[in-house]
Parts: sequence; C-alpha cells; structure tokens
Amino acid sequence: MKTYQQWQEMALNLTLPNQAYIDGRFVDAVGGAQFDTVNPATGKVITSVAACDERDVDIAVTSARKAYDSGVWSRMAPADRKTVLCRLADLVSEHGEELALMDSLDMGKPISDAFNLDVPGSAACIRWFGEAIDKIYGEVAPTGGGALATVTREPLGVIAAVVPWNYPLDMAAWKLAPALAAGNSVVLKPAEQSPLSALRLAQLATEAGIPDGVFNVVTGDGPGPGQALGLHMDVDCVTFTGSTSVGKRFMSYAAESNLKQVWLECGGKSPNLVFEDADLDLAVDFAITGCFFNQGEVCTANSRLLLQSSIKEQFVEKLLARLGSRQPADPLDPDTQMGALVDAQHTENVLTYIRKGQEEGAQLLCGGEKVEVNGAGSYIAPTVFDQVTEDMTIAREEIFGPVLSILTFENEDEAIRMANGTIYGLAASVWTENVNRAYRVSQRLNVGTVSINTVDAFSVMTPFGGTKQSGFGRDLSLHALDKFSNLKTTWLALR
Ligand code: NAP
Ligand code: MG
Repeated sequence: MKTYQQWQEMALNLTLPNQAYIDGRFVDAVGGAQFDTVNPATGKVITSVAACDERDVDIAVTSARKAYDSGVWSRMAPADRKTVLCRLADLVSEHGEELALMDSLDMGKPISDAFNLDVPGSAACIRWFGEAIDKIYGEVAPTGGGALATVTREPLGVIAAVVPWNYPLDMAAWKLAPALAAGNSVVLKPAEQSPLSALRLAQLATEAGIPDGVFNVVTGDGPGPGQALGLHMDVDCVTFTGSTSVGKRFMSYAAESNLKQVWLECGGKSPNLVFEDADLDLAVDFAITGCFFNQGEVCTANSRLLLQSSIKEQFVEKLLARLGSRQPADPLDPDTQMGALVDAQHTENVLTYIRKGQEEGAQLLCGGEKVEVNGAGSYIAPTVFDQVTEDMTIAREEIFGPVLSILTFENEDEAIRMANGTIYGLAASVWTENVNRAYRVSQRLNVGTVSINTVDAFSVMTPFGGTKQSGFGRDLSLHALDKFSNLKTTWLALR
C-alpha cells in the first residue's frame, strides 16, 4: 500500500467526477446548481458537484426505464450479464486506490480501511452476485398432469437506491450488485456528503459493458433528488439504507405515489453482551473495534456494552488501557485507525449526545471532546460512559459516533431484557465460553444478526438486515435478490 506521503500526493492530483451520471455519460444538473463536498479531515472543499432536482431524477428514471424496456440488460443472457458484472468487479479492484481515496476524502474514514476493506468488499460483492446470475433456477409447481405451472423470477424494472455516507462505495455495491444481477435498471442517489465514489463507479460500469441508462447516479440532497425518487411514479422499488426517520419517509412517499416497494436498512443501537465466563482479553479488543471502528459511524456499532457485574471492574480497566492507542489521526496516514467524523454538523450532533449523557448522570470515563488533527477537522476522541442506565438518552438513541455506553446486568434474563429493550433490532454480540448459553441467548435476541465471540460478523454469503425499527428485507446473500425480483406464475393448460 502507498505511504502517507504518496496518498497525500495522489489526493492532490486526483481527477474528481463532479457531474451526475445519466444515460451513460456525465451531465450537469438541468438547473445548473452545484453543492460543495467537504473533506471533514481538513474542513476544505474538495469539489462542487451537480445538485440534481426532480427534473434530473425524471430524466434519469426515463433513461432507466427506456433501457429496461429495450431488454438490452433485462433480457441479456444471464451468462453475459455475469461476464459484465465480473468485469466491473475487476475494474473496482484495479481502481481501488482511487475509489478508496475518494471515500476517505469525502467522509473522513482511514485510508487503510477504505483501501483494505471497503474496496475489496465492494468488488467481492459485485463479483458474487455476478457469478450467481446463471446459477439460479425457477420452479415447476407439483400440479400433476393436465397443466404446467412455472414460477420464475422477473426483474422489477427501475430500482432507486438511496444510500448513506458511512460506507459510500460498499453501500452502493450492496444495492447495485443484486439489483443489476436480477436484471433491473438502477438510479443511485449517494449521500450528499459522499458522492464521488458512486460517480466513478458508474463510469467504470459503462467501461465494464453495462448498457447506457442501466446504471445512473443522481447527486444532491435528500429533500431534493432523494424525495423525488421516493415520489416518482415510474420507480418500481426503493432500496434504502440510512436513518430510521428517513426510512419512514420513504414508506410515506410510496403510499403517496405509486405503492412502489420499499426496502429499508435503518439505524441500530446494538448490544454487546459479555458474560463472566467470556475470554475477557479478546472481548475487550472486540468491544473496542465493535464500537469505534469507522469512528463509530456504523449501523451495527456495538454502542451498548452490557457487562455482567462480576467482571465489570476488570473489563473497564482493560478497555480504558487499550483505548489509548486508538486516537483520531489524519485519515490519509496508513497507520490511522480512527479518522474524522463525516462533517461539522454531525460532529455537533454527537457532542450534543455527549453533553446529554453527562447531564443525565452518566459518568464520562474518557474522551468527550472535539479534537483537531494538524490544526483542523471534525474529530472526536473515543468516548466511554459508565453508570449508564436504560432510560438515558445515550442508552436509547443511535448516536452514530465514537460513544460507548456501559451498562451492567446480573443474570441471563436481565441481559436479554436489556439487550432487547430498544426500538432497534439490527445486530447483537454475545461473549461466553459456554456454547449452550451462547445459543440459548442468541435465540432470544430480537435482531437480524447475532455474532458469538466476535462482533459485527458479516459476509456477502449471509443475509444482513434488521428487525423492528432497524428495517426489513435483507441485503447480501441470495435472499437479497428477493427484493429485486417478482415471482411470475405462468399456467399452461395442456391438451
Ligand atoms: P440519512 O440521513 O437517513 O440519509 C440516508 C440517505 O437518505 C441519504 O442519501 C440522504 O440524502 C437521503 N435522505 C435524507 N433525507 C431525505 C428525505 N427527506 N427524503 C429522501 N431522501 C432523504 O442517513 P445518513 O446520515 O446518511 O446515514 C446514517 C444512518 O444510516 C444511520 O442511522 C445508520 O444507522 C444508517 N445505516 C444503516 C445501515 C444498515 O444497513 N442498516 C448501514 C449504514 C448506515 P442526503 O444525506 O444527501 O441529504
Ligand atoms: Mg445525510
């Protein structure tokens, strides 16, 4: 991997896309408006990007529909679609430095994570769904003689993908890969804070052989192109990842417009349950990654640490000792483990939660303040609160920043009750050396994914998603294809 200095040099010379991508080419917004995308590590404007509105969305959806109806992608032989998606996966890997750098500059994540995890993850996701395309069969119903009834999967048509800024490239890939694999056309709206890698990805898609109009990117803010996609009468499905409040809006948009299908991956407040028989050293290390990885800007962040009271003291002692080495630093330094928060506004929101924690009586053990790196930027040091009770705001609401809340429990029942006592149900972790307890507890946790003796386990091979107000439907795995295809039943009366 490149050195600190090499990444800095590359950043200075990087060609940045700044127009929307519609019908296979870059275009300005119809109204000519632009917005600035800012590097939160420095506070400096990176570039100005097309601010699309409903007119641009309409052009993109029309282009997507035209491509879909033409059959150029939707009816392409599965094996050929596979070849194209696999080529796109190759191109993502080949352009990995550029894509990683765009995400790091846009939203402040460490370049090492963007390059070593996000880029290979995106390429693997696109390849996996590409490879699946010609291995999925339909069904023949057991009708008996006299009739043949087949059940086949058909694409839905035009999919709108609206994604957040915490994993810009990965979230785009998670939506795009299964949607395209299923034969749909896509209009992607990246978050306003992180439009760059999505635009580059669209250009690479054209290079890979994705026909014009099959993959479009409209840039701009939520109330602009986001809402326009939600309300569009010719969008068949919205696949969304973001906050629960905006997810709810998409359900309203669908109800107000054409009853488009809406699939939501929303927020979380994931519990990390550590029982007294756990491997404590391992659990401490993972409690740190589980909460502070990606500056805590992770939907599945293990932001509630539930410790059995008998081990609490020693656990917290170890945790604080090890946290020292994870302090915010320049994202472009390959040694950096923790970068900048996405923007000044979000940093302020996180600081407001921290103040609320103190006001409501939690005990601040470390962090809690905004810090600067090289005299600038929106950084917050890892923040740990002890003496947190279930009624406190910091125990209930998603902070989406580097803030850990420690709560204690006496026994299994209490741990499960506390773990489930939130409006969210995305993920949970369980630490114990007792396999019976591990599985017993896991079964009673009302979440989409349980990680036993690890945190945030996921893979393109397994479904990812939540229960309750964390959303519904699943990203990743073959189950993701369910969101992007209709089951078509065809009866043939035999003579
Ligand atoms: P967000 O504010 O909900 O935004 C998500 C997307 O929706 C962005 O593209 C955003 O556009 C757009 N949007 C915002 N307001 C809108 C509106 N009124 N109408 C239509 N679209 C609108 O979320 P975020 O701040 O980007 O990301 C953080 C959230 O994402 C957290 O809650 C986190 O838990 C969640 N998340 C969930 C998962 C998961 O898989 N469950 C994964 C990652 C993140 P603009 O921001 O450009 O305005
Ligand atoms: Mg946003």
